[in-house]
Amino acid sequence: MNLIAKDELQQFRKFNNKYERELRSSVYQEIMPGMGSGEILDVIAGNKNLMFSMSLKQIKRHKEYFEGDIDFKKMAAAENITYPDKTTLIVKTTHACNLHCPYCYDVMFRKDLDVEGNKVTLEVVRQILKVFKDVNVGTWIWHGGEPLLIGKEFYDEANTLIKQQFKKANICMQSNLTLIDDENAAVLRKWNIRPGFSFDGLTNYLTRKNTDRLMQSIAIADKNEVLGGAIMIITKDNIHQMIDDYEYFKRLGLGCKMNLIFAAHKNMNSYTLDGKTVAEEICKFFDYWILDTYRPADSDLCERYLMAALDAGGSCAFTDCAGKDYWFSTQPDGTIYHCGRDWPESAAVSFGNIFEMESVQDILNHPNHKRWYEGTRRMLRHCGNCDYFYCCHSGCYNDNIQYDLTMNKPEPENCYTHRHVISHIIRVINEIDFDDMPKYNPRFLNFLFRHQFRSAKMMKNILEESIKRIETPAHAENKLKEFLVI
Ligand code: SF4
Ligand code: SF4
Repeated sequence: MNLIAKDELQQFRKFNNKYERELRSSVYQEIMPGMGSGEILDVIAGNKNLMFSMSLKQIKRHKEYFEGDIDFKKMAAAENITYPDKTTLIVKTTHACNLHCPYCYDVMFRKDLDVEGNKVTLEVVRQILKVFKDVNVGTWIWHGGEPLLIGKEFYDEANTLIKQQFKKANICMQSNLTLIDDENAAVLRKWNIRPGFSFDGLTNYLTRKNTDRLMQSIAIADKNEVLGGAIMIITKDNIHQMIDDYEYFKRLGLGCKMNLIFAAHKNMNSYTLDGKTVAEEICKFFDYWILDTYRPADSDLCERYLMAALDAGGSCAFTDCAGKDYWFSTQPDGTIYHCGRDWPESAAVSFGNIFEMESVQDILNHPNHKRWYEGTRRMLRHCGNCDYFYCCHSGCYNDNIQYDLTMNKPEPENCYTHRHVISHIIRVINEIDFDDMPKYNPRFLNFLFRHQFRSAKMMKNILEESIKRIETPAHAENKLKEFLVI
């Protein structure tokens, strides 16, 4: 696989960056479910007109595009990460679990449910609420181990406390779902929780097993209106059949996120996949998904990469997740980490215990947090000259620390995957024009519309139109040639 040329990448960013998008600030129509082909063509034509008129105005505003070199510093400043204004808390309720999945990253903490300190208590919840009282908590995730091992009475009381303090917080749960029944489902429904559940699709029988039981649980969750989406781990068993798995989840009518397996320390059955294979397979899947017009489904994986390419970051793994007040997780006994992943003991990155803290600032002042945060800055500096920094920001700090405890450099397989997948996506979508849009997946097109996407082909047409209207400065044609790299 080849990376795209640097000037093609720069051109893509010039046409698609937050700064320019905000200047245009157009709202495109979207293709709605059930629309006929005539209506779809109308949406595409309407969006084409809007993009042409907004882009022509923009070219007039930015004559410097034709008069000199592009100031990438200005663009980079505009693309600097905007941190979410809400905090995500991952609260691990127990390290016990009724299943034994081979790649589990919590296995280093695995203990029986009744071992002291292995069940979250209302005291822990009250203390978390006290420490985070001045923070805007947007999402509270019950996690584990298996959170449904904890009784429904706990969740009813704890959720009441959470909602008293954070009225708008979204309470979620990550579960294996096999322990759901009508009673605990009723509590989940009361709190509008639809647990995300782990399910490895066509190869579930090789990894998670218990597929029959899970199917029954899915039916119970559905009946009780608490069915969430599946989360599939991409492993060596299914990496070559992502398209089949996507179609399988479609047939089941289930939403599915696909996440890569990663090497968790102390779990010899976990591993990081070879970056070249992963990149090739994700690209194949991307090419399939964008052309899927037969009852297409969303693809969180493809959209995460698209978001990264177009919007500078996007998911926790492609942005700087160490921003102030951003991610925190607690263990059942109150020990604090950055997020719910396994953080190697030898790296000394646990940030104390929630009962030792009065406020989030106390966590930030903890010597381990300070050292960890400095490590994340070193990684960002290490990656500073990378062409893909704008959409990667050193990748996942946890992947990186598992690879290099000193936190000086990124994990190379994920680094390879990111650069090559983003390159491929840009190469593919740069070829899209309005005229050939009807052949694409409407969900993919809607994503492009939402982000006011402009391909090299579209820009060529827009610029030629601009020259025809003599709205560009003299020598525009020569500049146009320089401007259009491909
Ligand atoms: S360390 Fe990795 S998994 Fe954890 S929040 Fe950051 S990017 Fe996400
Ligand atoms: S991890 Fe790799 S792709 Fe990401 S910014 Fe660093 S060098 Fe670039």
